Amino acid sequence: MSRYAAPLREMRYVLYDVLGGEAHFASLHGADGTNRELVDAVLDEAAKFNEQVLAPLNQSGDREGCHWDAGRVTTPKGFKEAYRQFVDGGWSGLTAPAAYGGQELPEIVGAIVKEMIDSANLSWGNYPLLSHGATEALKHHGEEWQREVFLKAIIEGRWTGTMCLTEPHCGSDLGLLRTRAEPAADDTYRITGTKIFITAGEHDFTDNIVHLVLARLPDAPPGTKGISLFIVPKIKTARDGTLGERNSLSCGSIEHKMGITASATCVMNFDGAEGYLIGQANRGLLAMFTMMNTARLAVGLQGLGLMERAYQNALFYARDRLQSRSLSGAKRPDKPADPLIVHPDIRRMLLTQKAFVEAGRALAYRAILLVDQFERGSDAEAKKQADDLLGFLTPIVKAVLTELANECTYHAMQIYGGHGYIAEWGMEQLARDARITTIYEGTTGIQALDLLGRKTLQSQGAGLKLFLTEVADFCAANAGNADVAEFIPVLTQLAQQWQELTLHVGKANLANPEELGAAAVDYLFYSGYVALAYFSARLVASARPQGDAFLKNKLDTARFYFTRILPRAASHAAAVRAGAATLMAMDDEAFG
Ligand SMILES: Cc1cc2nc3c(=O)[nH]c(=O)nc-3n(C[C@H](O)[C@H](O)[C@H](O)COP(=O)(O)OP(=O)(O)OC[C@H]3O[C@@H](n4cnc5c(N)ncnc54)[C@H](O)[C@@H]3O)c2cc1C
Repeated sequence: MSRYAAPLREMRYVLYDVLGGEAHFASLHGADGTNRELVDAVLDEAAKFNEQVLAPLNQSGDREGCHWDAGRVTTPKGFKEAYRQFVDGGWSGLTAPAAYGGQELPEIVGAIVKEMIDSANLSWGNYPLLSHGATEALKHHGEEWQREVFLKAIIEGRWTGTMCLTEPHCGSDLGLLRTRAEPAADDTYRITGTKIFITAGEHDFTDNIVHLVLARLPDAPPGTKGISLFIVPKIKTARDGTLGERNSLSCGSIEHKMGITASATCVMNFDGAEGYLIGQANRGLLAMFTMMNTARLAVGLQGLGLMERAYQNALFYARDRLQSRSLSGAKRPDKPADPLIVHPDIRRMLLTQKAFVEAGRALAYRAILLVDQFERGSDAEAKKQADDLLGFLTPIVKAVLTELANECTYHAMQIYGGHGYIAEWGMEQLARDARITTIYEGTTGIQALDLLGRKTLQSQGAGLKLFLTEVADFCAANAGNADVAEFIPVLTQLAQQWQELTLHVGKANLANPEELGAAAVDYLFYSGYVALAYFSARLVASARPQGDAFLKNKLDTARFYFTRILPRAASHAAAVRAGAATLMAMDDEAFG
């Protein structure tokens, strides 16, 4: 019952009109053939595939879930066939390097397609998501033969990838990991240990699965400085690509979960499995970070995709369902009652979703453009700036969009009333699926520490300064634009406050190291709400050429955001300023 139509107009508006997509394509190294016509054709095809193939499998996949039997995992009916269509359509290599069989389209194109997949079928989307992360790690850190053998196979969709970090006692703190890697005589390694919660660790899409596993060499120093990364294929694979026997690894079980039930979450046992070192010994975390950064943006897109689908359904229902009369008199006197959409509280929930989806899309796409600029730009200084800004925006995209996805799917359920709680309508599935997105790939708390600690205080605010410069440039460029005049002073003031708030935490943290942890999540939300205010204004600033109705639509949305959502930023700033004292005053034993 849950519907999905790819929001192509909004996607194109953000890409081309707000963020200058065509100039972006022209600026990228090796993207000569990429132009609007080509990208539009790709997006049209992607919309068809997602609406017609993946979206109809979302609810049935959720109901059926994955099944484990003696180490084999069966995905829900239709999933394997959809993967075949995905591969046959060339989607698995959309943004991958041409040298290894990919189409090398800009990452932004892949991200827009991915947003559609996340709306259509989040569980299914997790299988290619992990392959994309593995592609990035192999691309940047693999040896040539590893790329020839493993990268090519993943790009062609013949094999898929995984990311094996988590162990039973080791989650956020990877320094604790114990999985061992013993060097063997033939330059391979024997990997032994148990990994848990491994997405797509086992499935029936492909014969071989390329596990990227973090493990410790015998002489490795303790903590994160002693972690190395290994390629451990399910089927033993020689350096010339010849397949051998089954490797000594197995899927011990799959987890029974609250949501994304059709995404296999596996316990993986490695019992002396044959693997190859990727990148340098003891520098595995560096290689893994390449995967993790890609995956963090990818999970942020999951938040966006879920918000979009929740909003589309909530809007349809609010227009269709008749309950009570409008407070200001009947709006549909021909009917026994007015549609839900006339009620202010329903409009509050709809507009909250609309504002978050639209500004969130602009934020996410802006971040992904930076990936392209960093990877395929030609100017060294511009690449460095893109990297700094991307590093700063990544935890915001990941944590804020996923937290807001939880809020938006909650609103969608609420708009459906009791029907939102009933499985048939699909809204409760969206809420259940959204819940994991604030947890995996680094929880919101961990993203917040990354944003405030590593990406801001430790780097002297390099990313923040770049972002605030961008905001200031926008304000200056639009000083004479009557359409956004009301937002400019607010943005200017917020930019100033953001700097002051950062300096305040930095100072407080010098005196007491608990201040960083105490401020982090509120600082993250503050940053998110201000960033979304900036993107809301940008959505208005570019709207006029689209016609009066479109401009009014964006203006109404931004006014709602600035007056009814943005005040949340002030309460987060107040919480930051309240400091660590009240959090740390109570003794551990006194809780209860
Ligand atoms: C469905 C699913 C799929 C997954 N897929 C994968 C996968 O493919 N590969 C993989 O390797 N892992 C995967 N994971 C694991 C996931 O990334 C971890 O669950 C996550 O990183 C959190 O680790 P944890 O569960 O051990 O929680 P913990 O690290 O124990 O954290 C518990 C709580 O403490 C907080 N916390 C921890 N440290 C700090 C700190 N220093 N300061 C403040 N708060 C802190 C956390 O924010 C969290 O709220 C998956 C998990 C699930 C549930």
